[in-house]
Amino acid sequence: ARTSGKHVKLNGVFHKSSGSSKPLLEKRNKLLITRKQLPIWPHADKIRNGLHGSKNVMFLVGETGSGKSTQVPQFLLDESWCTGCIAITQPRRVAAISLARRVADEVGTPLGSASPASKVGYSVRFDVSVSPSTRIKFLTEGTLLQEMLRDPWLKQYSVVVVDEVHERSVNVDLILGFLRNLLTGDQKGRKGKPLKVVVMSATADVHSLFRFFNAPYDPINGIPSSQHHADGSEMSWSGISSAEDELPSNHSLKNSRPNGNGIQTPISEASSIEKLGSDRISVCFIKGRQYEVQTTYLSEHTLDFVEDALKAVFKLHTQEPLPGDILVFLTGQDTVESLERLVNDYASIMDPKYPKILTLPLFAALSQAAQQKVFQPAPPRTRKIILSTNIAETSVTVAGVRFVVDSGKVKVKHFRNRLGLDSLLVKPVSKSSAIQRQGRAGREAPGKCYRLYTEKDYLSLEKETTPEILRCDLAQAILAMKARGIDDIVNFPFLDHPPRESLEKALLQLLQLGALNESGSISESGKKIAKLPLTPALGRILVEAADPDKNCLADIIDIVSCLSVENIFLNLVAEEKKEAAEEPRRELYRRDGDHLTMLAAVKGYAAEQTDRKAWSEKYFVSHRAMQAVMDTRKQLLAQCAILGLKNTAIEETTDTSQSEIQNTAILQCLLCGFAQNTARLMPDGSYRTLVGNQTVAIHPSSVLFGKKVEAIVFSEFIFTTRSFARGVSAVRLGWIDEVVAGM
Ligand code: ADP
Repeated sequence: ARTSGKHVKLNGVFHKSSGSSKPLLEKRNKLLITRKQLPIWPHADKIRNGLHGSKNVMFLVGETGSGKSTQVPQFLLDESWCTGCIAITQPRRVAAISLARRVADEVGTPLGSASPASKVGYSVRFDVSVSPSTRIKFLTEGTLLQEMLRDPWLKQYSVVVVDEVHERSVNVDLILGFLRNLLTGDQKGRKGKPLKVVVMSATADVHSLFRFFNAPYDPINGIPSSQHHADGSEMSWSGISSAEDELPSNHSLKNSRPNGNGIQTPISEASSIEKLGSDRISVCFIKGRQYEVQTTYLSEHTLDFVEDALKAVFKLHTQEPLPGDILVFLTGQDTVESLERLVNDYASIMDPKYPKILTLPLFAALSQAAQQKVFQPAPPRTRKIILSTNIAETSVTVAGVRFVVDSGKVKVKHFRNRLGLDSLLVKPVSKSSAIQRQGRAGREAPGKCYRLYTEKDYLSLEKETTPEILRCDLAQAILAMKARGIDDIVNFPFLDHPPRESLEKALLQLLQLGALNESGSISESGKKIAKLPLTPALGRILVEAADPDKNCLADIIDIVSCLSVENIFLNLVAEEKKEAAEEPRRELYRRDGDHLTMLAAVKGYAAEQTDRKAWSEKYFVSHRAMQAVMDTRKQLLAQCAILGLKNTAIEETTDTSQSEIQNTAILQCLLCGFAQNTARLMPDGSYRTLVGNQTVAIHPSSVLFGKKVEAIVFSEFIFTTRSFARGVSAVRLGWIDEVVAGM
């Protein structure tokens, strides 16, 4: 054991066991000045008091950037009841890692596994960085759920801080349900150890949260559901908050945000909600800082928001003086990378009288090193242009942003019931999201926001985003519950009860995957699948690949790692680039389809020892995506080893009949997970799904685009102008029958 004050020798270097070296302390002291200016700072005592004694639940509402995620864990660290670790959950890994790094700097300790004395760490899918001394741990929601499988009562934690609850991901809803059970007892009457819970959000329906945590469990009706989007009697919060001590005496409802952007702050209701506090629950509002944001709309609809964004970026860049970075909200890796290339192309021919441009992409599947670049200040005479998905909406705060360009679109997962598949849809954002995005421009000074849609479009946006649990595939969520011993899914305390139909669909899918057995309880392979940080379909594929008959785990891991990033191939827009890419890429293309092509790419990349960046350029592969693939691959290999999933070694072979057998095994494994995502060729040349009999076209990005094969299996279903299968492989109809029969 290392006691404080002593010196321990680590890798030949002397560290003080507090983990703090002189440069770290200097940095800490410098950051303390900034911390003290955060809107949350004066509320530290109120937050601490809110969890004293019998009080064990706190709702904390405060605008993005007010300091919730970074400060709350530090405020609680030295409380007498806080003897264990503090967990703080994030919907995205980018945010978990960057917050951990920031808080480590603020505490003055090395990050995570860098030193055994480090106090701040993180644990995200495919990447864990903690030390024996970790006291503050940032986790993604999925990772906390995984930890709950191993440690159902969360023994190592004194407090769980659930952040970004307004995003209402399926995982956050599950966590809230589990925590509620821990605090008040579950359906079986089991109650956990003393634990405190802080629920934080930028916008929140505090009434339903309050009811959720305060109501006694009713064994017949479960929790009174909050009825999302219910009648007007349900008060729903939209992005604004105010501290009760700053209430005007007349409690006027007319107090809106300084930039008066349509939605008003119901300040009087804020105070009435703070009074909601009970002997167990306290509520705290933090008023954020918000400067005027001048907002511009398009005068008419346009078709291509990437092109509109390009124009807006250069208009701002050429007209607005420095400092002031630009934050652009796009839909996904594809649009981020397209705009990145366009901006860079134009920047290279720009008049040198303008400042330089530094483009920085920000999306979930980015490698860690690339993510961190976003937070570094721009070099002199340079403007940062951050091209982001909705990650930067509330999850990640980037300092220096004065201008926002909002595409008004977001990519969301949506359950298409007829097909029984989750698909990614590009949809208009909710009004609440649009306001959050706009607000990013006014955090430090007055700013500007270009909305790439008309004002009329804005006014017709839906008020809030529908919680994910009401619109997505629930198989992973249900498997997590089953693995935790919760059999009575229907009576689980859900903040919003998912539709019965989607619960039944998910149960059926788990049954088909063999994760549940006939009686509905979790099977042995289901337990393994639940412990893998993957969807049940991908987990099933891994388990199958470890079967001695298939013996292709290493290859499947390579493929599954590729599927966890959006796209490893650069999305080429310009015709001449497409032509240039054709020849080199053909070396990687496999006639069996995209999955074996991905495998060829990973193998080629991994075999390249000298210059992987150059290799990626040669094949028009995204080096960034490949780095993320390699991270994932390493983690999956480790996880499989822990679960005892392994294969006998297979020799690399050039014998075609051998590699044919190997390829067949790989495709059959894919079929085990994706039996529902299969389609057969029809006499008219179209493909129709075997489940649901829907027409589906092969996506133009597929190597099988335009090809006619007897049947296909696909790993992703997207709906743009029509239904597309992306990530497609050619399979035999007989194999599908075999797999389905064996299920
Ligand atoms: P909230 O949770 O209320 O949105 P945060 O605690 O995330 O607020 O952020 C507070 C401030 O800390 C931000 O305004 C930003 O300036 C700073 N900050 C947060 N994360 C980082 C980071 N990774 N790098 C640099 N600064 C950061």
